[in-house]
Amino acid sequence: MYGPNTVAARRLVKRAAIQGGLEAVSLLSRSGLMPGARGLGAIFTLHHVRPAHHKDFDPAAHLTVTPDFLDASITQLKRDGHVPVALQDLPEFLASPDRPGPAMVFTLDDGYRDNDEHARPVFEKHGIPYTIFISGGFVDRTHSIWWETAEQLIGKIDEFSFDFGHGEVTLPCRTLLEKYAVFDRLHKSLACADQDAIVKRLDAQAKAAGICPTGIIDREVMDEEELRRLASRPLAHLGAHTIGHLNLAHLAADEMRSEIARSAERVAAITGDMPSTLAYPYGDRCAAGPREYQAARDLGFKLAVTTNPGVLNRRSLQDLFALRRISLNGYYQKSRYVGALASGIPFALS
Ligand SMILES: [Zn+2]
Repeated sequence: MYGPNTVAARRLVKRAAIQGGLEAVSLLSRSGLMPGARGLGAIFTLHHVRPAHHKDFDPAAHLTVTPDFLDASITQLKRDGHVPVALQDLPEFLASPDRPGPAMVFTLDDGYRDNDEHARPVFEKHGIPYTIFISGGFVDRTHSIWWETAEQLIGKIDEFSFDFGHGEVTLPCRTLLEKYAVFDRLHKSLACADQDAIVKRLDAQAKAAGICPTGIIDREVMDEEELRRLASRPLAHLGAHTIGHLNLAHLAADEMRSEIARSAERVAAITGDMPSTLAYPYGDRCAAGPREYQAARDLGFKLAVTTNPGVLNRRSLQDLFALRRISLNGYYQKSRYVGALASGIPFALS
């Protein structure tokens, strides 16, 4: 069964298990019993960085951390001996025989405006380089961000009639549990091939409910001018994140290549230089595989990042188009957890 209670229970159990695990790992990493696990450092993933703001229905809460948490995490990592490295300099750093410590590399996906407002001051205070991965369709307001649209729409309605790809169904959407169940169903349906059509249907439904999907982008995501200004700052770098933010693994080969190539050109039009780094949208094994890794290599990137969890190690140099990252997750905002994740122990044990 896939009822709302099951969904909510699964979310809670998973979160508690991870949190408990991180407490244990935090103790273990401080014990020094597994010093080799942290490998050569870690690449961290962030999305929204902004002050805490409680919302009852907050399906993307895991995509948000506070500036204070980011600040505390960096302080903790520095204390643990991590050295800041710009993502594009990582291959040379990994190849160097005299690294002063494990790397800490910061990346932010999707180009949210709060990255400039709330994350940049923290990075500048600590002298930390960072890479923001931007999608051309978000920058130009031609594409919406489905999870932002869905949050607004589902938060507002009591019943959701939608064609997830197999004909229209009507789902209750009144209680918090029902809303989370609808959001999860939508999320799952987007893992299939007609993602573009599903997002278009979602946008149409949102508009009918008085929500403007590209208006949300205007509010949340940096435009070309803001990105140009940000990219001119010393520690900021822009990377490619496709145009339409689609699951690349489900696209035909020529469309997949075009999404990547056009996004590199879009970044170059802003910064004046072709970007050397790429992040695959969604980025897990269902969204990017050997075909996408090879395309990124063929299209001239220096490296590309996934969202597959893991720390850097000796193999990373041979795997520059499938680099793993650690998500700094809004559910686990304690700096000792970041130390625990960067210790590499969760990945060595799994
Ligand atoms: Zn993204």
